[in-house]
Amino acid sequence: EYTINKIAAGEVVERPSSVVKELVENSIDAKSSKITIEISNGGKDLIRITDNGHGIPKSQVEKSFLRHATSKISQIDDLYELDSLGFRGEALASIASIARVELITRTSEDTIGVKVCIEGGVVKSNEPIGTSIGTTIIVKDLFFNTPARKKFLKSSTSENINITDMINKLCIGNPDIQFKYINNNRIMLTSPGDSNLKNTVRSIYGKKISDNLKSINIETDFLKLVGYIGNNTIYRNNKTLQHIYINGRYVKSKLILAAIYEAYKGILPINKHSICFLNLSIDAQKIDVNVHPNKLEIKFEDDQRIFNLIKIKINELLLGTNL
Ligand code: ADP
Ligand code: MG
Repeated sequence: EYTINKIAAGEVVERPSSVVKELVENSIDAKSSKITIEISNGGKDLIRITDNGHGIPKSQVEKSFLRHATSKISQIDDLYELDSLGFRGEALASIASIARVELITRTSEDTIGVKVCIEGGVVKSNEPIGTSIGTTIIVKDLFFNTPARKKFLKSSTSENINITDMINKLCIGNPDIQFKYINNNRIMLTSPGDSNLKNTVRSIYGKKISDNLKSINIETDFLKLVGYIGNNTIYRNNKTLQHIYINGRYVKSKLILAAIYEAYKGILPINKHSICFLNLSIDAQKIDVNVHPNKLEIKFEDDQRIFNLIKIKINELLLGTNL
């Protein structure tokens, strides 16, 4: 119950970007190879996610909007052993309680799909509909029934910045998925979905960034760090270009960023941050349980050892090559 309370304490839906995150993660969990995200007015008026994943069986559709009685995990460190991104069973329930939601879905087992409309947590309709395999979820009028929370939303421009940043992270973390992002009817991004991280980076940040990446492949008996670090002389202090994933899950890791920074010391001017796209694979037991999943901050059992290892390995690589 310790873990469950701790998880329940987190607000799933803070702002439009957190809705986008939860819904896209559901599409990823459904093994989609193609995910389309459409946004209007900073996500405040409309968020529409369309995927070609396995869909939800007819009999499960309304149930998926109920807060699960039990969590999929008993310990927070299990989080990093799960093969699904979702684990709390409360995203759809939370979202449907504060918005007007429409969900259209079909599995390969069903010949006809289903469309469910839920407003403020109340099921308004449930009817059959012809649709392709996969799921479309439309979230309208976020916080329509909670004006106090609606007031906390920022301008569309600033919500869009958060949404774009979130989509970029999801996209970089899943180079095998083809993402399409449309904002106010404008195509913002189409990622190749060809499993090539460099091509995915190029589709988001352009050739100038993707052509100046140095491949990282560090493997020891207890961790594996794979991906790219960049040439910081292009963009300074652009933290949106720092992507760290642990076992495929996007996290904020001051420790890894600090280790990279230290590795660059004396090579690049101070006050510059390194561009990085890195996934750390590590035994879940080595990750500190004292974390909050929603804040995405992680701690390791042996911080110093990991810090030193990453710093030394990247420094060796930088000194041995010409970035
Ligand atoms: P969680 O992801 O933690 O299980 P959610 O509230 O996010 O909880 O989703 C509830 C359930 O609805 C999921 O476990 C999944 O079975 C189903 N679901 C939600 N979105 C999709 C989707 N896009 N494709 C297939 N199933 C989905
Ligand atoms: Mg989920």
